Amino acid sequence: MQMRKFRILLASVMLAAALGWLLLGAAAPAFMRIAEISQIIPSAFLACLGTTVFWLVATLLFGRVYCATVCPVGTLQDVAVMARRRTAKKRAFRYHPPLSIRYPILLIYIVSIAAGVLAAGYILEPWNMMRNAASIVQPSDTAMTWGTASDPLSGMALAAGAASGIIALAAIMVWAWRSGKTFCTEVCPIGSALGLLHQQTLMHIAIDPDRCISCMKCEDVCSCKCIKVELRIVDNSRCVRCFDCVDVCPNGAIRFQINKGRSRQTPLFTPS
Ligand code: SF4
Ligand code: SF4
Ligand code: SF4
Repeated sequence: MQMRKFRILLASVMLAAALGWLLLGAAAPAFMRIAEISQIIPSAFLACLGTTVFWLVATLLFGRVYCATVCPVGTLQDVAVMARRRTAKKRAFRYHPPLSIRYPILLIYIVSIAAGVLAAGYILEPWNMMRNAASIVQPSDTAMTWGTASDPLSGMALAAGAASGIIALAAIMVWAWRSGKTFCTEVCPIGSALGLLHQQTLMHIAIDPDRCISCMKCEDVCSCKCIKVELRIVDNSRCVRCFDCVDVCPNGAIRFQINKGRSRQTPLFTPS
């Protein structure tokens, strides 16, 4: 209960800071910069090793907590999922086996960035997506966006960048409303890279088969569709540590606990 509340509070504060930093430009209070410097990819591009190491250690300890807290695109999807819970006819989620596209997308992303073809980053990387969308209000002359204020083609480039960001964010939110955080579990290269460490994390989400009464509440609520109650498994490579399942379980059967079977539990490709 407390973990879930804390993560919602932190994610809300970080989303507010991100929106303030991106939309207010020079008028934004300096403390809002925390939203940018805590992002993995912008920090890596700025050679800010501290942030990269911090998230590497945090992921090895707790799993994809970056996704649960500081990523603004993740939090925007939480808002869409919340809206679904109030408005959609069919509100419960069901386990879905992972698609086989996330690692090919991650590979394409890495190769593109390494080759200096930055379009993949502009389109797929969450912070760039936010920045591109915000550039319609607040063009940047320094940040890595599709178009910058100092670009000779700035007019067209800014329009293309803003359109790509707005369309991508709108599509992701509609997708989240319709079927959960599939962008996070199957498409986003940052999430896929973090998920690769799931077998080594110190803590993980697991179901205690002796306590589980198969009420299905955890599977109903998991917007990442990574809990399969029938088999008592949680695909921790896709779990974004929202703690909704832990909060909803009536019997304390699904828990965030020490991962005793590190390196020999949930496989990358779980059964359907
Ligand atoms: S998977 Fe990507 S978009 Fe989703 S929360 Fe994580 S970093 Fe953000
Ligand atoms: S398994 Fe639990 S903590 Fe992980 S994404 Fe699903 S509901 Fe959230
Ligand atoms: S909510 Fe708890 S008791 Fe119900 S199916 Fe999930 S783990 Fe089992």
